[in-house]
Amino acid sequence: MTTVAFIGLGNMGLPMAKNLVSGGMTVRGFDLSADAKAGLQEAGGQAFDSVHDAVEGADVVITMLPNAKIVEAVYADVTKAAKDGALFIDSSTIDVATARKVADRAHHAGFEMVDAPVSGGVGGAAAGTLAFMVGGSAEAFERAKPVLEPMAGKIVHCGQAGNGQAAKACNNMLLAISMIGVSEAFNLGRALGLDDQTFFDVASNASGQCWSLTSYCPAPGPVPTAPSNNDYNPGFATALMLKDLGIAMDAAGDTGASTPLGALSREIYKAMDEAGHGGKDFSAVIKHLAGKL
Ligand code: NAD
Repeated sequence: MTTVAFIGLGNMGLPMAKNLVSGGMTVRGFDLSADAKAGLQEAGGQAFDSVHDAVEGADVVITMLPNAKIVEAVYADVTKAAKDGALFIDSSTIDVATARKVADRAHHAGFEMVDAPVSGGVGGAAAGTLAFMVGGSAEAFERAKPVLEPMAGKIVHCGQAGNGQAAKACNNMLLAISMIGVSEAFNLGRALGLDDQTFFDVASNASGQCWSLTSYCPAPGPVPTAPSNNDYNPGFATALMLKDLGIAMDAAGDTGASTPLGALSREIYKAMDEAGHGGKDFSAVIKHLAGKL
């Protein structure tokens, strides 16, 4: 039986770890929060008092942490405690450069590592349908795949270390831009006297069709499961979108890639955040743009 150490049992990590337990794996967890550890124990996992204790003896280490600085610090401990041949999987959303640096350090210490950020949110984490974007060697990817499967709807190998984070940054930049585009179209349609449902029926079957429209419609009504029908409670909070856009824009700066719409979308979500709406779902940008948030 595979033994997995799971570090970071928050909104995403705890349901992911629970799915590993359901998938028949032994899960040894650590989090700074006592409540998070209790949650894992209730689900049949084991909770430990330090990264070191959780990682000792595990075949695989998975991390699901808030940011790059914490990921770097935690892997300094993981590397000291892990048994020979253990595989490291970081599913946190962090910048590409840090992901490559941490993987490099793991390799120098004799361990294989992949970055495996996810898309699908808390709902996907609970349902075990997350999309994993994986960066690392082909061998490491093949080792990671069966461990990720109980948590996954889709697992894509994106190339070398850091490429999972690269795919995540590009995807979320696209999502940020497309949500603003869909929101602008609804706001203009309303100003021209178009009914929301009518515009949805046209655009969802026309060349304006996209995920932000048909799966996550920012106008209440056409997509019942979208946060727009629940007072824009997240879902995917504006503050988290802003974090991801920061990663994408830093990467654009580092590489010289031209991303004018990414930069503009970051300014728009930043204004929402600064106005005190960072906790609202990012699709509330439709109200922000209309001056009604
Ligand atoms: P969260 O804040 O709910 O969970 C993070 C957990 O890490 C917390 O329980 C915290 O106590 C723990 N933690 C912090 N420092 C630690 C340390 N040194 N050692 C052990 N535990 C520590 O965040 P989340 O929503 O679960 O997100 C986790 C990661 O997943 C982030 O990188 C986020 O960007 C990414 N992500 C989130 C979503 C989402 O919808 N929430 C979607 C995709 C990706």
